[in-house]
Amino acid sequence: MKNSSVLLSRSISSLLLILLFSCGAPEAEMTQEEKASDIHSRVLTLDSHADTPLQMGREGFDIGKRNDPHEGGGKIDFPRMKEGGLDAAFFAVFLGQGERHEKAYQTARERAVGIFNLIHQALKDYPEMAGLALTPDDAYRLNEEGRLAIYIGLENGYPIGRDLEWVEKVYDLGARYITLAHNRNNDICDSSTDPDGPEHNGLSEFGAKVVREMNRLGMIVDVSHISDEAFYDVIEVSKAPVAATHSNARALADVPRNMDDDMLLALKENGGVVQVTFVGPFLKEMEPDPERQAAFDELRERWGDYTELSDEEMAQVREEWQKINQKYPRELATVSDLVDHIDYIVDLIGIEHVGIGTDFDGGGALEDCFDVTEIENITLELVERGYTKEEIEKIWSGNFMRVFREAREIAAELAVVEGEKTEILAQI
Ligand SMILES: [Zn+2]
Repeated sequence: MKNSSVLLSRSISSLLLILLFSCGAPEAEMTQEEKASDIHSRVLTLDSHADTPLQMGREGFDIGKRNDPHEGGGKIDFPRMKEGGLDAAFFAVFLGQGERHEKAYQTARERAVGIFNLIHQALKDYPEMAGLALTPDDAYRLNEEGRLAIYIGLENGYPIGRDLEWVEKVYDLGARYITLAHNRNNDICDSSTDPDGPEHNGLSEFGAKVVREMNRLGMIVDVSHISDEAFYDVIEVSKAPVAATHSNARALADVPRNMDDDMLLALKENGGVVQVTFVGPFLKEMEPDPERQAAFDELRERWGDYTELSDEEMAQVREEWQKINQKYPRELATVSDLVDHIDYIVDLIGIEHVGIGTDFDGGGALEDCFDVTEIENITLELVERGYTKEEIEKIWSGNFMRVFREAREIAAELAVVEGEKTEILAQI
C-alpha cells in the first residue's frame, strides 16, 4: 500500500513537471540573457558603417570564410555576421582625402569603382550567404530568405570631385549614402578634423548642389566627419532627414568628430538619426599611447599622400598598418561606454533618433564586442538597462530605416513635382 501511494504521488509530480515545462517559461521568468537572445534574433539588426571592404582588398582575406580577428582577419565576414546575428550592414567604399585636381579625382574614381566592384564580386561569389540591398525593404526580404543584407555607402565625397554627375554614378553603383567628407576638407564641405581649419566655413556652393542632387536621388546625406558649420548648412539645405552614420555625443567624449547637444537637438528637429560608434576616443577619454602614435606618424610620413600610391603600395600600407595595430594594441572602450552614449542621446532627443554604426574594420572595436560575433552583448546591455523590445528594434534598425525611407519618399515627391516619371516611385 505504502509503496503504491509513493509511486502514485511520484507520477503525479512528474505529470505536473511535464505540464509546467511544456507550457514554456513565461517572459517574466526568462533571464536577462534569454530575453536579450530572443529580442536579438527577432529584430532586424543593422550596422550603418563598416569598413570591411578594406579587408576585402587584402591578400588572403576571404569574406565567405570564418577569419580570426586576432590574426589580422578583421571584424566582419559573412559566417561571423551570421554567428553574431548581424542581419544587415553598410559596407563603406572609403577613400582618404588626397589632392584636389582633375588627375587626382580620376585616380580616386578608379579606386572607388574598384572597391564597388570588390563588394559586388563578393556578393556574386557567395549568393547563398548574402545579397546586395538597395532599398529599406531589401534587408527584410533578404533576412526572410536567410541571407545577409549588404548595403553600400560612399565614405568621403572626394571621388565626386567637382563633377555633380558622379553623385548619380555612385548611386548607380549601389551607394545609398555619401559621407560628404573625411578627415580633411574637400570641394563639398569642411571636415571636423582638417589640421588647416575651415576652408568654406561649412558647405561649399558646390556642396549644396551635391546635397540637393542626393535628395533628388533619395540618397541619405551622412553628416559624420563634417564640421559643425557644415552640419548646420546641410540640415538647412537638405529636404530630407540626415544621418550621422558613425558619431557619438560630444558631452561624453569631447572630440570634434562627435555631436554636441545643440547639434543633437537640431538633428531631432530634422528628423534624422545618429548612429553611435565603437571608436575608443569617440566614446571616452583614453590614455595617450605615444609609442603607437609615433609608429603611425612614421607610417604616414614615409608614404606621404596615399592618392599617389599604386594599388600594390596601398596594400603594403595596409599590411604595415595592421602590424602596428597588433604590436601596439589600443586601449578599448566597453559596451557599457557605448550604451552610455545611447542613454545620453535618448534622454536628450528621444528614442527615435539613435542607432548603431560600428566602424568595424575602420578603427571600431570594444573590449567586450571585439568583432561582429559579440554584438548581442549590446542587446543584453540595453535589456539590462530596461529598454523594451520595441525600443531596441528602433535602435538596431527602425530609426535608420525611417530616415532611409523618408529620403526615398522625398525623392519620389520631387520627381512628381519635376514631372519626371522615374522608377524611384515604384521602388519605395
Ligand atoms: Zn569614418
